[in-house]
Amino acid sequence: MVLRTEITERPPLLRSINPATGEKIGEFPNMGKKEVDEAVSRAKEAQKFWAELSFEERGEWIYKFKEFVRKNIEDIAEVISQEKGVSRMEALISDVFPILDLADFYIKNTQKILRREKIKIGVWGLLGRESEIEYFPYGVIGIISPWNFPFSIPVGQIIIALMAGNTAVLKPSEFTPKTGVTVKKIFDEIGIPKGILEVVTGDGYTGEMLVRSGVDKIFFTGSTTTGAKIMKTAAESLTPVVMELGGKDPMIVFDDVDLDITTDAAVFGSFFNTGQVCASVERIYVHKKIFNDFVNLMVEKTKKLRVGYSKTPYEYDIGSVISEKQLEKVKEHIENVIEKGGKVLTGGRTNKLFIEPTIFVDVDHSFKAVREETFGPTAPIMKFETEDEAIELANDSEYGLTASVWTKDLTKAKRIASKLNFATVMINDNLITHAIPQTPWGGTKKSGIGRTHGKEGLLEMVQIRHIHTNKMGQKMRQPWWYPFTKEKYEFSLALTNLLHSPSLKEKMSSLIKIAKEIGKVSKQKL
Ligand code: NAD
Repeated sequence: MVLRTEITERPPLLRSINPATGEKIGEFPNMGKKEVDEAVSRAKEAQKFWAELSFEERGEWIYKFKEFVRKNIEDIAEVISQEKGVSRMEALISDVFPILDLADFYIKNTQKILRREKIKIGVWGLLGRESEIEYFPYGVIGIISPWNFPFSIPVGQIIIALMAGNTAVLKPSEFTPKTGVTVKKIFDEIGIPKGILEVVTGDGYTGEMLVRSGVDKIFFTGSTTTGAKIMKTAAESLTPVVMELGGKDPMIVFDDVDLDITTDAAVFGSFFNTGQVCASVERIYVHKKIFNDFVNLMVEKTKKLRVGYSKTPYEYDIGSVISEKQLEKVKEHIENVIEKGGKVLTGGRTNKLFIEPTIFVDVDHSFKAVREETFGPTAPIMKFETEDEAIELANDSEYGLTASVWTKDLTKAKRIASKLNFATVMINDNLITHAIPQTPWGGTKKSGIGRTHGKEGLLEMVQIRHIHTNKMGQKMRQPWWYPFTKEKYEFSLALTNLLHSPSLKEKMSSLIKIAKEIGKVSKQKL
C-alpha cells in the first residue's frame, strides 16, 4: 500500500488565513502519522480512567466547559469569524450559542438514555431466563470536521462522546486549525486530565492517519467525496463510521403562505453563512400562483444584503467564501446557468473571495446549480403546480439531508413531509434543527450514514452489551445438548408444536409429552 505522504511533499506547517482579508492568523503543525498515533495513544490511556467516572462526574467537567464557553463567547466567536471571514454575529449565533443547550441536554439526559434495561424475551422468559441490555463506550472516538461550523460540529460530537465515557481525538479542517486548537485550550483551561481530548492539526493526510490509527469509531463531517474515501479506508480495519455529508436541500412553498415572512426565510436559508451550510436552501420550488410575487420580493430583499467583512460584529450580512476552490465551484454553477439559458435576476458577480448573493430563474434539474451541491450564496427558484409534482421534484436528488415545506395548512405539510426522502423535514422553518440538540441529525442517500445529536446520536457513541442469564443454568442440563437421542428429537418436535401450532388440541398433547419427558431428557448426558 502506498500512503499519500510517500507520494507527495507536505508542508510542515498549515497557514490559517482570514479569507475575507487575506490576513495571516497563525501557523499550526501539519501533523503526520507519528503525532496522530501519539495523540491516539494518550487518548486510549486516558479513556480507562474516564470510563470509570460516573455520569455525574463527567457531567461536572462538561458543565465547567459550558461555563467557560458562556463567559468567553465573544472571544471564541471572534476566532471563528476571523478564520471563516464571516461576521462575528454569524459565528456567535450559529457556531457557539447552540453548544450551550447541547451541553445541558447531555449533562441532564445521558444517564437516563444509557440506563441498563431489561428486554422481553417471550417464552424464554417463562423458561427461567432473563436478558438485559447495557451500553458501554467504544473507547477513542476520532472526529474529522469541516470548516463551515468549525466549533459547533466537533464540539457537539466531543461532548456526546465524552458524556458516554469515550475520549476523543479531533482533526479540525485545514482551513480552521485555530478554532480546533481553541477547543483544546478551553479543555486545558478547565483542567481536564491529559488525553481526554486531543487535537491533531493538519490536512487530509492527517485525517487519513487518524482513520488508520486504531481509533474505535470515526465521526466524519464533510463532503460526500471525502466521506466515501474515509469509508474505504475505515473498511480495511472494519472501523465503524458515522458520516454527515453534503446536501441539496429543497424548500417547497405553497400559495397560501405569508409572502413577507416566507421570502425572509428563503433569503436567510439560502445565504446564511455565505450559503456554506450543509442544510442551506439550495433549491426553491414555488407554487405557480405566487411565483412572480415571491421571486420579485425575494430579489428586492436580497439586494438589501450587505456583503463584506469587518470587526464590527453586525456591519455585514454576508461574508466571504472560505477559499479559491469554493469560489471557483460557485462561479462554475453561475456560468452553467448563463450558458444553458437560465436568468440571473440579481447578484452573480464576485470580488476576491466575496460573491454577491445570486438568484436564478428559468432553470431546471439539468442545471448544475440545481443538481450538485453549490455550497455558496445562490438560490435557484422553480415553479410547481401540484402537491405530487412538488414531492417528485424535491425527491429528485442524490442527497437527502433536510427539506422544508411552507404552508399554513399543517395537515397538508405533514402529509408531504412523510413523503420526502430526507432525514429532516422542517415545516415553516429552515436550517434550525442542527441547533436543537434533542433531535437527531443526519442524512439519507448520499447525505450520510448514522446520526449525531438526540438520543440516536448518543447511541452511536456506545456499543450494546447483551447480558443473558439462565437462572436454571446450574440446576439442569439443556434438552438440546449432546448426546442427540430419539427422545430429544421427539421432545424437540413436541416443543415446536407447543410453541407454534395453531391447534389448541395439539398444543395440549405436546405439553403433556414435554412434561412427561423433560426429566428423562435432561438426564441424558455424555
Ligand atoms: P472536506 O470533505 O473537504 O473536508 C472535511 C474534513 O476531512 C477536513 O478536516 C479534511 O482535512 C478531512 N479530509 C480530507 N481528505 C481526507 C481523507 N482522505 N481522510 C481523512 N480525512 C480527510 O469538506 P469541507 O470542504 O471541509 O466541508 C464542506 C462539506 O461538508 C460540504 O459538502 C458540506 O455539505 C459538508 N457538511 C456536512 C454537514 C452535515 O452535518 N451533514 C455539516 C457541515 C458540512
